[in-house]
Amino acid sequence: MRRLKVRLRLLRRNLRELRVDEELRREAIAASVQRIFWTAPLLATGNLLAAAGFWLRETPAAGNELLWYNLIITVNLTVSAGSVLMWLFAWKIKRPETSTRVQTFFVYVVAVYVLSVGLTITLIDQLVMTGITPFLICVVIVGTFYYLEPRNSLVLFSLAYLVFRWVLPLVGDNSVNVIHSNQVNGLIVTTLGLALSLLGWLAFRRGILQQRTIEGQQAKLRNLAYQDPLTGLPNRRFLDERIKAEVSMVRGQQTQSALLICDIDHFKDVNDTYGHLGGDDLLRELAELLRKNVRADSTLVRLGGEEFVILAPGATLEEGTRLAERLRELVEGHSFTVDGKEVRITLSIGVSTLFGTEGARDYYHRADRALYQAKALGRNRVAVAVEQLA
Ligand code: GH3
Ligand code: MG
Ligand code: MG
Repeated sequence: MRRLKVRLRLLRRNLRELRVDEELRREAIAASVQRIFWTAPLLATGNLLAAAGFWLRETPAAGNELLWYNLIITVNLTVSAGSVLMWLFAWKIKRPETSTRVQTFFVYVVAVYVLSVGLTITLIDQLVMTGITPFLICVVIVGTFYYLEPRNSLVLFSLAYLVFRWVLPLVGDNSVNVIHSNQVNGLIVTTLGLALSLLGWLAFRRGILQQRTIEGQQAKLRNLAYQDPLTGLPNRRFLDERIKAEVSMVRGQQTQSALLICDIDHFKDVNDTYGHLGGDDLLRELAELLRKNVRADSTLVRLGGEEFVILAPGATLEEGTRLAERLRELVEGHSFTVDGKEVRITLSIGVSTLFGTEGARDYYHRADRALYQAKALGRNRVAVAVEQLA
């Protein structure tokens, strides 16, 4: 009983392996369309060469051999033309904007087409021989070239086997023994095709899952690299890149954007009174307060220490100054809680704006200089980079 339970659990886990999500399905179909695009010319050439090879041979005199000869050439030429069509279709729909439904339909039509070709040529071959090699080749092509969902490939190969089994006795003069033997071989061939298809699918799935894990980890690392661990706000590195992007956007255009550098006044006193951890709590609370009070299209960054920067795209110097004044008043009126005690702080803020004619460094330095002015003039105030007004 225990063993049965373990077995069932294992089976369930294996079945879970075969589960398909929408994205995996889309990627598998897109990859299959790509593969059809690259392999269709090879199939077209192969069939054309096969037709030419037969055509160059001596024409059989009459009977089944002549019929076989003519049919083989005709079918190879038709299949060659079909592969060219397949290639053109694949070329047209392999763009990512084509709907997955159209791509899926195409891939399964191609799979059925290739299996039908194998079946047809094998049936024609039965006029003069006993082998089923063309069927084998086409089953292997479908099993290895295209990524088919396990459920669908089970249906597809089962149907291929049933049709094969049913039509085989209808053509040629082969003995019952040969037909039976071929039917058994057909079962082995389609089982092989199904196994190849499953293995291909599992390998593809594993590759996609690994890729997703790597991309997820990369995104996490990227986030960590751009995040200030104390407050969760973006950090200086993020600001540098935002400013760079802003500079290249603003350059040559008539827009400007405002930069505010905010610095807590006498923050050392907070640390001295409540300890470094108490200071940290206050920094977190201030970060949250600022975050709630700047627009979503602005960038709020903790520059380091007790300095925060706000980049407000599209804001004029006047608008930037108004925002700075609003934030200064907000912080002055806010009661922070550190160690269960009420703490009051004030901010000094330097404001500058970026014009299209200058670089990121000037922009930042002007705001920094304005901040020093605010400090020098007695703190708890907003200072504007005046040289910009000229
Ligand atoms: P001012 O009004 O001139 O800005 O005075 P201030 O004391 O705020 O400025 P100063 O730059 O001299 O001191 C900043 C303090 O911020 C010193 C440092 O210990 C503290 N600090 C820097 N980073 C952190 C941090 O991550 N957590 C805490 N709690 N304190 C920090
Ligand atoms: Mg400071
Ligand atoms: Mg300070």
